[in-house]
Amino acid sequence: ATDDVTILIPGKLHPHAVGRISEAFNVVTAERADPTLLSDDERARIRGAAVMTRVDAAFIDALPNLEIVASFGVGYDHVDAKHAGSAGVMVTNTPDVLTEEVADTALGLLLNTVRELPKAEAWLRAGKWVKDGNYPLTRGTLRGRSVGIFGLGRIGQAIARRIEAFGLPISYHNRRPVEGVDYTYYPTLVDLARNVDTLVSIAPGGASTEKAINAEVLAALGSNGVFVNIGRGSTVDEDALAKALADGTIMAAGLDVFADEPNVPEGLLKAENASLLPHVGSATVHTRQAMADLVADNLFAWFERGEVMTPVAETRDVPLPTR
Ligand code: NDP
Repeated sequence: ATDDVTILIPGKLHPHAVGRISEAFNVVTAERADPTLLSDDERARIRGAAVMTRVDAAFIDALPNLEIVASFGVGYDHVDAKHAGSAGVMVTNTPDVLTEEVADTALGLLLNTVRELPKAEAWLRAGKWVKDGNYPLTRGTLRGRSVGIFGLGRIGQAIARRIEAFGLPISYHNRRPVEGVDYTYYPTLVDLARNVDTLVSIAPGGASTEKAINAEVLAALGSNGVFVNIGRGSTVDEDALAKALADGTIMAAGLDVFADEPNVPEGLLKAENASLLPHVGSATVHTRQAMADLVADNLFAWFERGEVMTPVAETRDVPLPTR
């Protein structure tokens, strides 16, 4: 029975997930995933964790009976999944249930960036429509643009379907071409940037994408270039981006994610040609509830039936328990 099983909830977690997990399991809470905040007894009892916070290798090693870490969100760069895999600990994330929501937000952010819609609304609210007349025509337009997607996975493909409906050509960069899509593939990010004027990044964080969008990529995008990031802030050299926005290397940027959230670098805050959002890609009541359900469902599947619903790639070979 699950009420014999102790689950740790370190830091903040969606209340619906906390509620479902607390009803069925024994729950221990802590301010963060730090073994020094737990008693010896708690460390020995904990068999699962439901997390939104950082989980590092030392934490995994400090819990001898840990079997599964159920992480909230599709991106799980805050969990050392590689180490978990080698320690025989399962890690799950929340893919698919947020895909369409995040793609919707990406298109909104792209339009806001290119057509300056937030600034046009601010113009109206400030009474300038009455006082100064029409909002100035925007230099930016989606018409005639060619869009490159960095990270054509689940969300990238949902973004691409929307861009297709907007009538724009699509190309992409991944480490490997995607089977069954006929968008143009570029084997390097700089090649992609050179061949498009609009770059949308929905690539995951982690070492392999760290600061991938750098000065060279931004220069390749060019002076009519628009860069939208809804993936992870760590994939961008933010100093290079602030400079590219200030000196006209690119035309504009739309950013939902930042390297050190919730802190946004001064250079981006003062960029008039940047449209900035506080990481709201999946942030609706509907979608966050579905993500919370999937966190709880992974724990139920594991402890009740010896199954797992959405394992991450690094822990796919961790053996299932017999229940
Ligand atoms: P997927 O795993 O389905 O897609 C990721 C894509 O990125 C794959 O096509 C993969 O292709 C490509 N990729 C991964 N690493 C690299 C690399 N080093 N170089 C080039 N391409 C790479 O994930 P999702 O589409 O479900 O989610 C993508 C990311 O979006 C999440 O990891 C998360 O960080 C972010 N996200 C942001 C949200 C927000 O609120 N702003 C909300 C939800 C997600 P390949 O393996 O062939 O390289």
